[in-house]
Amino acid sequence: MTTFSGKGVYGAVALGKVSVFKRRETTVKMLHVDDPEAEKARLAAAKAAAAAQLQEIYDKALKEVGEANAQIFEIHMMMIEDDDYNESIESIIDTQSVNAEYAVSLTADNFAEMFASMDDAYMQARSADVKDISNRIIACLSDEGTQTAGSDEKVIICADDLAPSETVLLDKDKVLAFVTAHGSSNSHTAILARNMNIPAIIGAGNAFLAAVKDGVFAAVDGYTGEIFLDPDDETRTRLEQKQKADEEKKRLLQELKGKENVTLDGTKIKIFANIGGVDHIGAVLANDAGGIGLFRSEFLYLESSDYPTEEQQFAAYKKVLESMAGKKVIIRTLDIGADKQVDYFNLAKEENPALGFRAIRICLTRPEIFRTQLRALYRASAFGELGIMFPMITSVSELEQIKQIVNEVKGELTAEGIAFSDNVELGIMIETPAAAVISDRLAPLVDFFSVGTNDLTQYTLACDRQNAAVEQFVDTHHEAILRLIEMSAKNAHAHGAWIGICGELAADTTLTETFLRMGIDELSVSPSFVLKVRDAVRRTDLSR
Ligand code: PEP
Ligand code: MG
Repeated sequence: MTTFSGKGVYGAVALGKVSVFKRRETTVKMLHVDDPEAEKARLAAAKAAAAAQLQEIYDKALKEVGEANAQIFEIHMMMIEDDDYNESIESIIDTQSVNAEYAVSLTADNFAEMFASMDDAYMQARSADVKDISNRIIACLSDEGTQTAGSDEKVIICADDLAPSETVLLDKDKVLAFVTAHGSSNSHTAILARNMNIPAIIGAGNAFLAAVKDGVFAAVDGYTGEIFLDPDDETRTRLEQKQKADEEKKRLLQELKGKENVTLDGTKIKIFANIGGVDHIGAVLANDAGGIGLFRSEFLYLESSDYPTEEQQFAAYKKVLESMAGKKVIIRTLDIGADKQVDYFNLAKEENPALGFRAIRICLTRPEIFRTQLRALYRASAFGELGIMFPMITSVSELEQIKQIVNEVKGELTAEGIAFSDNVELGIMIETPAAAVISDRLAPLVDFFSVGTNDLTQYTLACDRQNAAVEQFVDTHHEAILRLIEMSAKNAHAHGAWIGICGELAADTTLTETFLRMGIDELSVSPSFVLKVRDAVRRTDLSR
């Protein structure tokens, strides 16, 4: 048995045979050509064929993993048409009189290197995308098409790395898990894997790649990030048991659908779900969440190549509200900045982005962006039970400015004769220690608080949430954090506001009792954790 470890991207266990993903290597030779114009014509035809393939992949992805995840292939289609990319290819053909394959390959290397050298993790991940589209064009030039992974029996796909298009083309019914030697948890491949519910490990390393062979039996533990090649009997039995226990747990949790979130002594709490896009609503409904406690609206901006218009936003918010059929939907206004960078915002590079120009700070400085979003939100409010919350609040004055803009937007809509709901709840995220400490001053101005423990932890413990080097200093149960939450809960209730938690800590069932004792009214978690938290609530007895 040989053991390797990487990062578990989706927690589950799988045992089975390995299939090493073989990408058809397109070795590109540099050839001299006499007619650069003819080369450019070949290039145009190959690009058209590549775009047609991408359209097919997009349609497949749309059906299988939803619009937000399929969009990467729309981006690929746009990248194929990118002026800089094409100018580079054509200029290499013209100036060096070389074949199109070579010009595409050289351009791909240059662009991939440029993306990889950027500071921003999101842009670094685009390096794989440019290579992916270039390989597709090269394959079309050679009239080869591209390989899709596949096998007749269910297998654990092992690869160097998987491009997003390769991941989505995997026939899910035949894939038990996948393990890659490289790749970042920020990449679209990792995101797609989570959404496809495939147990996955990334970053298992070069040694793993050298050791893994087709047909070898392996066990993958997506929880711990371990992969065992040719596992010994003890490991195999242990993981089989873990898998069985997993299945049994999932089955039992299904029985909690339709049941109340109530403790043994009768205390009730709401359990809502967090989503990043319209296409996650299916998971919210399938897991029986009572509502949406956090819709991270910035994903609309991240997935777009320009500011989403009022109409585009209105359509997305309306769809969420209508799909939730009268259940509460809390949409958070734009939280761009820090780890979530968007090119077209043209934000300056910062030394300390987490402490920088982000979220509400951008909205209050560039109110035209904020107003567009608020107009779309209020227009959508006529179609369901909307709550709006504002991120990164640190002061009363920010909240006063927000409320003034909100009132102006409502006034505009009224003057234009546009319908909106009178019952939109307004809330703020408690994700800075400042907001928690002055929660007695903020509570009278809002309907609710929602504690963002991800940021509250980073700011309270002074540990950048993006920095792996300080992870060892992060104690998510730190007394300071719990005291800030408790203080916020007391102040919310003293002023008639309700309080929820929407950071990752909300799903930590070792704290469910603590939160219930604090009087937390709502916990908002990833859809797949709703039933697990319901189970923890139903086992809690506050009378003891
Ligand atoms: C948080 O900070 O806890 C939160 C929910 O927001 P995000 O993770 O999007 O910053
Ligand atoms: Mg946050």
